[in-house]
Amino acid sequence: MPHFGLLGKKLSHSFSKTYFEKKWANAQNHSSSYDLYEIENVLALESFLKKRKDLAGLNVTIPYKEQIIPYLDALDPVAFEIGAVNCLLSKAGSWVGYNTDGPAFLKTLEIPFSINRPTKAIVLGAGGAAKAVVWAFHKLAIPVIQVSRNSELNYQNLRNHWTDDIQMIVNTTPLGMFPDIHTFPNISYELIKPAFIAYDLIYNPDKTVFLQKAEMHGAQIINGKEMLKIQADLSEEIWMKNLML
Ligand code: NAP
Repeated sequence: MPHFGLLGKKLSHSFSKTYFEKKWANAQNHSSSYDLYEIENVLALESFLKKRKDLAGLNVTIPYKEQIIPYLDALDPVAFEIGAVNCLLSKAGSWVGYNTDGPAFLKTLEIPFSINRPTKAIVLGAGGAAKAVVWAFHKLAIPVIQVSRNSELNYQNLRNHWTDDIQMIVNTTPLGMFPDIHTFPNISYELIKPAFIAYDLIYNPDKTVFLQKAEMHGAQIINGKEMLKIQADLSEEIWMKNLML
């Protein structure tokens, strides 16, 4: 009876439990279960990992994707390169950290980039998801500029760095996510041109204000739904492969 779950601070709007339960029911897998574990702080996170070695695997979400790393026994090479973890595997009493966000984001770019591959991209935000996105662009040898509120390149001076070779912009901040659906990153949307790709990692709502504004300026828009499903499927692959060993 393998048990899985999601670790995060606030999980009431989580997609994962419903996704896995539906998927396993459709596959006649009645033995696996998935629960939500709301963790108050890093201390509680550490003790959870120590106590719950009975779990076969976990997903990790905001705000623990980076903070959890010191409490793991090993890191998969991709998670090590990215520096953030969204999937854990319990292996012989040890917790191994994986990152499936980066490979999932990369996968979602295959079709759009076969038609229109950007020369350079902007990444908004600098959290765990941003690290996975920057990793994917690095794999594709596409240069990125990263915007963070407190870094040298910030929302106030982005305009000065916005060169003509930029053809893609990715929102990795939570601005616009349910329930704060009226918020959006403060950028000069008029600099977005047709042939741009605007990608929002947010999956609820389907079309954030960021995507609406980018679309108004002619951009092709992509939301976070496909990435979300792929990262979940890749996590499941890691867990189930281990159970078959
Ligand atoms: P995170 O670690 O909390 O990072 C979010 C980053 O956004 C922060 O580092 C911060 O960067 C920036 N930010 C936060 N509040 C902001 C504000 N009010 N104004 C401007 N910037 C702000 O979260 P995360 O794990 O990276 O996740 C970020 C988003 O991606 C969430 O909406 C999450 O649901 C989504 N996501 C989607 C998928 C998917 O599969 N579709 C996967 C992962 C994450 P600075 O402080 O540096 O500015």
